[in-house]
Amino acid sequence: MSTTPHRLATRCAHAGAKRTGGGENGPLQPPIVQSAIFDLGSSRDSDAIFSGERKGYAYSRFGNPTVDVLARTLADLEGGADALVTSSGNAAVLCAVTCALQGRSGPLVTHRDIYGGSFELLRVLSSVYLLHVEFIDPSEEHRWLAAVGRAAAVLVETPSNPLMRLIDLAATVEIARASGAPVIVDNTVATPVNQRPFELGVDWIVHSTTKYLNGHADLIGGCLIRREPLRDQHRSIHKNLGGTVNAFEAWLVLRGLRTLALRMEAHNRNAAAIAQWLERRPEVSRVHYPGLSTHPQAQLFRRQMTHGGGLLSFELAGGEAAAARFLDRMQLIINAVSLGGPETLATLPAKSSHRGMTPEGRQQAGISDGLIRLSAGLEDSADLIRDLEQALTPEG
Ligand SMILES: *Cc1c(COP(=O)(O)O)cnc(C)c1O
Repeated sequence: MSTTPHRLATRCAHAGAKRTGGGENGPLQPPIVQSAIFDLGSSRDSDAIFSGERKGYAYSRFGNPTVDVLARTLADLEGGADALVTSSGNAAVLCAVTCALQGRSGPLVTHRDIYGGSFELLRVLSSVYLLHVEFIDPSEEHRWLAAVGRAAAVLVETPSNPLMRLIDLAATVEIARASGAPVIVDNTVATPVNQRPFELGVDWIVHSTTKYLNGHADLIGGCLIRREPLRDQHRSIHKNLGGTVNAFEAWLVLRGLRTLALRMEAHNRNAAAIAQWLERRPEVSRVHYPGLSTHPQAQLFRRQMTHGGGLLSFELAGGEAAAARFLDRMQLIINAVSLGGPETLATLPAKSSHRGMTPEGRQQAGISDGLIRLSAGLEDSADLIRDLEQALTPEG
């Protein structure tokens, strides 16, 4: 057999499947080991498991066979050495930040337009535990890189949501390397299909598996993946923070992963078609989508991503009233938060994810009242464009 690693789509299609062969007659799909505890056997066996002399299971928060299959699969798809699975994307960010900061002093540097849930999490950590977090405006690249240069650890999200701004990962890694600061990339929006952060030298990748990796909008989950093998300290942090996942949900994510490459092709295609169509509409004043040739960072996009992804946002010339009217007129597209599922969703960030900000804060962040965020699903793009058209067209 050839030793060339299989391509990503092939690895997705076989996610978690186990060929036993040799007449063993085992199940191809991983069994769902829905048990909190494991029979430890004799005192000697139990000793060997607890001392780490032998790989074994004791308690599902410490480790579970189904969850381990998912962890190995996620590490493989991102090209990392090891992964840890968590109960949500927020739990993954908490765990990754804790692992990255462990033994280091100085600020956690991140940018102002990270996912709202991560922003709130870091605000909670900084007020309760006095964690020093610096939120930088990433549009001033020299300020961003200067902050990275004095960071204990760096948390980056690219593309950002909802404005789809990119951060230069290679430049960020180069600066962080000089001081040894670990770089964490939230790759939820891009997915391993569209962006390969480990190839650019980052240390950690986090995901909300709630989104594209599971892909069916039916569970909450997360993971963190390390380019180098995990240290015992990292496994200890994960197990003790406690945001671990049950076997059944891990199994559902494995099932979702099998179609990841195929689904991303459709998400990419639909979002690109919608972005191009919206750009030509007089009711639309601006479209934010990394795959457009008019994106202000089109050059960086070509260096860093292979496709534009399934998420985009656009601004209606008619402002807040036009955006509300658009949302009310949608028939196929659904007004719901989140992204990465089969159904196309649209929201008004100013009235949902960014509602907690002051109007001035929103304006500073570039979130206008007429901004609509759209997560392109898996429908036929002709149906989606017909729905967009009827929702945009003024009543005559
Ligand atoms: C949704 C999301 C998260 C948080 O994930 P949960 O599963 O909701 O906890 C983190 N980062 C990004 C980019 C997300 O979209």
